[in-house]
Amino acid sequence: MNIREHYSLRALNTFGLEVKARYFCTLATLGGLRTVWQWQQQHPNLPVLFLGGGSNMLFVEDFPGLVVQIKLMERTIIGSDSEYTYVKAGAGENWHQFVRWTIDQGLAGLENLSLIPGTVGAAPMQNIGAYGVELKDHAYEVFAVDWKTAEMRHFSVAECGFGYRNSRFKSLEPNRWLIASVTFQLPTKPTWHLDYAGVKEHIQGEVNARSISDAIIAIRQSKLPDPAQLGNAGSFFKNPMISDEHYQALREQYPQLNGWILEEGVKVSAGWLIDHCGWKGKRIGDAGTYDQHALVLVNHGQATGAQIWQLALDIMDSVEQRFGIRLVPEPHIISGGALVQYS
Ligand SMILES: Cc1cc2nc3c(=O)[nH]c(=O)nc-3n(C[C@H](O)[C@H](O)[C@H](O)COP(=O)(O)OP(=O)(O)OC[C@H]3O[C@@H](n4cnc5c(N)ncnc54)[C@H](O)[C@@H]3O)c2cc1C
Repeated sequence: MNIREHYSLRALNTFGLEVKARYFCTLATLGGLRTVWQWQQQHPNLPVLFLGGGSNMLFVEDFPGLVVQIKLMERTIIGSDSEYTYVKAGAGENWHQFVRWTIDQGLAGLENLSLIPGTVGAAPMQNIGAYGVELKDHAYEVFAVDWKTAEMRHFSVAECGFGYRNSRFKSLEPNRWLIASVTFQLPTKPTWHLDYAGVKEHIQGEVNARSISDAIIAIRQSKLPDPAQLGNAGSFFKNPMISDEHYQALREQYPQLNGWILEEGVKVSAGWLIDHCGWKGKRIGDAGTYDQHALVLVNHGQATGAQIWQLALDIMDSVEQRFGIRLVPEPHIISGGALVQYS
């Protein structure tokens, strides 16, 4: 395994930031971890970071340690029972291509998660979700390696601690587990999720996994900027959860504020809050918010990670001042060789 030095990550992060990894390698087999361990012994004070497609990361500056891009490839139909077909995918597989492959095999379940950028291995990190479906709805188990002790472990869905854009791998034990593969259970009798705005209207012909996937692709392409054209990491903030009292107080002042009542509280739209602070389409140098969706921070070309992070902090401050809500970023913020932790 070849360890490169001063490696540009520009093509490997969807913000398109010109950041460099002091050291860089790709991992195509688990045996390759030996090289990473040897490197770590020689550089005990430098950090190691696993990278998938770089679509949920913000590098605030150059990374001082070793970036390991995960390239573990596999797609296998393991078997089936009366209820499910079980499918295993290697962490390095491109998520969207994997979803389309399952559809090509006549399998359903993942269609609403079409066109989410990134890799299979990163998908459990934040329990990716879109259009009424989350990874946890169809995951069976996650196979991971504690990369420091070499312990290998199969996590059941219950053990993964999946929540809204969260998992044990993201918040409970960050940086501990290298996710090597994910096994899915795809239902023999699928339930279609068509209630999200626009999905039904975009379906052409019969309702099936492929037509739903096509509809979701069309909707996403019309709403979100393509990172190849305009650097971004999708939604930059999670939708915040607030107490019922807080929500009622805000509604008196802002009757247009919608909320979703859940067990833990009331979830409100981060995009709405940001929009109402006047941020939609704002641009400071090359860092800005998308003109159609204030929740998406964009790099107009030459922004630095520090500039995008400063814009994010300014947005967080202004939303907090106006609504008393501290937004939490969705992407992994990487600064000083470490993840900046948010719950
Ligand atoms: C245009 C756009 C739209 C998006 N839409 C959605 C959406 O609808 N829903 C949604 O949930 N997300 C969305 N995202 C966010 C992103 O696509 C997902 O979070 C995706 O799963 C990230 O995958 P990645 O491979 O790019 O991860 P990366 O950005 O490479 O990594 C993310 C984190 O996971 C860690 N990691 C990566 N691979 C592994 C591994 N194998 N083992 C252990 N840790 C690992 C990294 O260290 C990092 O901390 C969107 C992003 C963009 C750019």
